[in-house]
Amino acid sequence: MDHPDLSRRRLLGGAAALGAGMLSGGVQAAPATAPAATTTPPATGTERHCEVVIVGAGLAGLAAARQLSAAGREVLVVEARDRVGGRTLNHAVSVRGASPGTVVEVGGQWVGPTQDRVLAMIKELKLSTFKSWTQGKSVDVRDGARSEYDGRIPPGAFFGSIDTQIAMTRLNRMAASVPLDKPWTAAKAVEWDSQTFQTWMDHNLYTDTGRSLMQLVVEAVFSAQPRDLSLLHVLFYIHSAGSLDMLVNTEGGAQDSRIVGGSQRIALAMAEQLGAQRILLNAPVERVEQHDDGVSVRGAGFAVQARRAIIAMPPTLAGRIRYAPILDGLRDQLTQRVPMGTVIKAQCVYAKPFWRDAGLNGQATGDVGPVKTTFDNSPPDASVGVLMGFIEGEDGRRALRQTREQRMQGVIDSFVRYFGEAARHPLEYIEQSWAGEEWSRGCYAGYFPPGVWLDYGEALRAPIGRLHWAGTETAEVWNGYFDGAIRSGERAAGEVAALL
Ligand SMILES: Cc1cc2nc3c(=O)[nH]c(=O)nc-3n(C[C@H](O)[C@H](O)[C@H](O)COP(=O)(O)OP(=O)(O)OC[C@H]3O[C@@H](n4cnc5c(N)ncnc54)[C@H](O)[C@@H]3O)c2cc1C
Repeated sequence: MDHPDLSRRRLLGGAAALGAGMLSGGVQAAPATAPAATTTPPATGTERHCEVVIVGAGLAGLAAARQLSAAGREVLVVEARDRVGGRTLNHAVSVRGASPGTVVEVGGQWVGPTQDRVLAMIKELKLSTFKSWTQGKSVDVRDGARSEYDGRIPPGAFFGSIDTQIAMTRLNRMAASVPLDKPWTAAKAVEWDSQTFQTWMDHNLYTDTGRSLMQLVVEAVFSAQPRDLSLLHVLFYIHSAGSLDMLVNTEGGAQDSRIVGGSQRIALAMAEQLGAQRILLNAPVERVEQHDDGVSVRGAGFAVQARRAIIAMPPTLAGRIRYAPILDGLRDQLTQRVPMGTVIKAQCVYAKPFWRDAGLNGQATGDVGPVKTTFDNSPPDASVGVLMGFIEGEDGRRALRQTREQRMQGVIDSFVRYFGEAARHPLEYIEQSWAGEEWSRGCYAGYFPPGVWLDYGEALRAPIGRLHWAGTETAEVWNGYFDGAIRSGERAAGEVAALL
């Protein structure tokens, strides 16, 4: 079961709850009626002291806090939202027939082989995983024709698939030469960071279908278009995950398994271990000040004094905080140059996973949006059937201009195209648009356009005085994923521990 008070969005309980200093779940909340001025010294009683303040209660921040706390350090995690987990968020499915406690994730959800840190964390937290549903045929709709097929290659895309496979092999080879700690030092870094991935595709894929399939891969992995991304960044990302196949594969790849009870349980369990007194919710940090003897982190009505701070969030969000003294130009400009991807995750709940009866595994691809990739996201007991689809990149940007009803219609039309009329009337429609989330501003992760790794890469992780940087975007291994987030938090915790 989820911990209800940490996982769910809810309004502050008003003065009575605050008077007790705690919300019902025991996690502290910043005062709701605090003064707006951020530079005003906080009222007595809202100032906290610790050795290390961690800004952001996503997997990175919580992993950093957990490691430092285990080493006997006094930590406080300060989180803008009213919940922990950041880009992980469980949604309770309450339609008739669903087993009690059934959830689907509206944020990140999968883990897979070689993601050793998150897999170890899942074990340490006594959570468990189950395999993504892959039994049956996949569906592909291309040039208006629908096909069902086994294996990896849709019959209607035979030559295009071979074209894509050859390009993938070439990309894997190039990626292996990109140093994960310093991608800008790759022998061909200037050439590769001076072009978009679209430019590379134009010269290295020879069929329309091959280009369309590769574009689908890019949209699915980066929630951005090939024209948005630096070739060097794509290569770094591939190396960071091991290979492009690891990124795109379900079985044996990044989409291999899910977490029983939903992925947000990782953050919830970490928060539970840390203890209520070490997490301050509803506390958007607005200002970070460095002094000779410490650092203060402030928001409306609260302040935390510490010896060091870990800022555990995507670069673009870190750039929205005010710093005194101002960050050096390289770091500040980096935060202006790592945009977040665009994705809307949409799910339809049905009485049962009807596609399984038709011998289908729920995975579909297509060349027409809004949904171009789908998965069977049913709970492990299949008490209800859930089809999940992503609206990514330019499809996602288009969908941002639509109403929820228009998007729902587009999603259902896509599902009907892949799985037939049985998909027409879901019992529940669930969607989460991450671009509209104030404390995420997009997903899955921040990506690097051309020129950024080359000129700004060294500012990604380098501490500035008492400030250290974490978040999946700073990870060398499995950058962009849960695993990278945890690694980044533990890396930053190690930096801080060595200096305290
Ligand atoms: C739809 C979707 C699907 C995904 N699929 C997968 C997947 O299947 N597998 C996988 O491994 N990864 C997946 N990801 C990516 C994964 O969720 C992220 O890599 C990971 O959760 C990032 O963790 P983090 O701690 O680095 O950042 P975040 O989770 O973004 O945490 C940052 C925290 O900082 C807080 N914050 C921001 N600004 C402030 C401020 N000023 N003051 C205080 N707090 C602040 C935020 O509220 C947030 O809680 C997916 C993401 C999305 C959205």
